[in-house]
Amino acid sequence: MNRDTSKSLFDRAKQVIPGGVNSPVRAFRAVGGNPLFMQRAKGAYLFDEDGNRFIDMINSWGPMILGHANEVVEEAVKKALEGSPSFGAPTRREVEMAELVCSLVPSIEQVRMVNSGTEATMAAIRVARGYTGRDKIIKMEGCYHGHADSFLIAAGSGAMTFGVPDSPGVTKGVANDTLTAPFNNLAAVEKILDENKDNVAALILEPVVGNMGCVLPNENYLQGLRKLCTQHGVVLIFDEVMTGFRLSIGGAQQLFGVEPDMTTLGKIVGGGLPVGAYGGRKEIMNCVSPAGPVYQAGTLSGNPLAMAAGKALLTYLKENPSVYININQAGTSLAEGLRAQIKEFGIKASVNQIGSMFTLFFTDEHVADYDSAKKADTTVFGIYFQHMLEQGVYMAPSQFEAMFISNCIDKNITGDILSASYNALKSISK
Ligand code: PMP
Repeated sequence: MNRDTSKSLFDRAKQVIPGGVNSPVRAFRAVGGNPLFMQRAKGAYLFDEDGNRFIDMINSWGPMILGHANEVVEEAVKKALEGSPSFGAPTRREVEMAELVCSLVPSIEQVRMVNSGTEATMAAIRVARGYTGRDKIIKMEGCYHGHADSFLIAAGSGAMTFGVPDSPGVTKGVANDTLTAPFNNLAAVEKILDENKDNVAALILEPVVGNMGCVLPNENYLQGLRKLCTQHGVVLIFDEVMTGFRLSIGGAQQLFGVEPDMTTLGKIVGGGLPVGAYGGRKEIMNCVSPAGPVYQAGTLSGNPLAMAAGKALLTYLKENPSVYININQAGTSLAEGLRAQIKEFGIKASVNQIGSMFTLFFTDEHVADYDSAKKADTTVFGIYFQHMLEQGVYMAPSQFEAMFISNCIDKNITGDILSASYNALKSISK
C-alpha cells in the first residue's frame, strides 16, 4: 500500500503542528507507522491522499452515524450557508434544535449549545458547583471528559494511550478537587462520599465508557450511582458525548432507564460539525447566565451551520428508528464473529460490545474498569491494527478506544471486516 503522500504531509505537519496532528491519538504513536492523511469520504469508506480506500470503523469518533457525506446533512448545511455562517445573535434554528434535544433526551429540560464535548463537560461541572456551592467532583478512572484541567486526572482515551493520565500543567489545587473512583465500583464511590460529606458538587461518568475501550456498566451500577447522588445531594452528570443519540435516540440514559441531573453531549449532536451541548433539570440550568449567575458564553455557540447539521441528523434519526436496528445488528454480528475467531485461534482476547460500540481487547480477562483494561497487550494490538490497515480497514489507532459503526456498514462490509480480522488473528496466532 502506497503511503508516500501521507508520509510527506506528516513530515511537513511535524514542522508546524505539535507532533504533526491536531489531536494526539491521530498520530498513530500507539500503533507505529505514519498516520494517513484523509482526502474525502463517502458512506462507509475513507479515501486517503494516496488514493487508498478504507472501511471506516471510527466514523470521526462517533458523529458520522449515517456514514460520510450523508445527503440529508449536506443539504441542510448548504442551505444554511446561503444565509450566513455566523450572526452572533439568536436564530430560529437554535430554538428548534433545543426543542429537539429536550424532546429526545429524557432528563434534559433545558440545554445550552457549545462548540465541543470539552466545553460541555467543563461548563457542566461549573454549573454543578454553582448550583450546590460545593467544590469537589468525582470522576471514574479511565473515563475521558475532554481536556479541561479538572478531567485530566486518571483520564482515559489519548491520555491513557500516551501514559499521561494526570497531565502536567494541571495545578495541584485543581487536582485536589477531582476525586477518582474505579468504574463499576459502587462501594468506592460510597466511601468517597462519606469521607467528603457536603463537599462533592458532582459525579461525572460515561454511562457506557468508550474511552478506555468500550466498557459496560455492571447491572445496577448506574441505578446505584443515581441513588447515592440523590442521598448526598450530588449532581449526577452523564457524559453522553459518545453514547448520546447512539446507544438509543435518547442515549444510554434511555437504554438503561436511569435519569441523571445533567447530561453532556457532543459528536452526533453536531452531525460532524463542531458542537457540544449540556443540559438537565430546569432548576439546575436556571443557574446559567443570563438566567442565573454561573457564567458561560461562546462567540460561535449555536452556529447556524452546526445547528443545521445537528438538526438534520437528529431529525433523521428520530424519523428512522431502523438506523438503530441496523447498527446494533452490525455491532452484534461483528462481536460474535470476532469472538468466534478468538476462540478458533486461541488468542488471549475478549470483546466488549453494546449496540454499535465495541472494542477487541487483547486480554482474556473481562474488561470492566481501568485496571483490567490496562492488562491488554498493546503490542499485539499494534500488530493487529497494522494487519487490518493493510487490508483496508481503518480502526481507532489505540487499544483504549471504541469502534463506532455507521448505518452504511451492511452485511457485505461486515463480512469484509471479519475476513480481514480472520487473516490478522491467524497471522498473530502463528
Ligand atoms: N466526553 C467524552 C465521553 C468524549 O468521548 C469526548 C471526546 N472523545 C469528550 C468528552 C470531549 O469532546 P471533544 O473532543 O469534542 O472536546
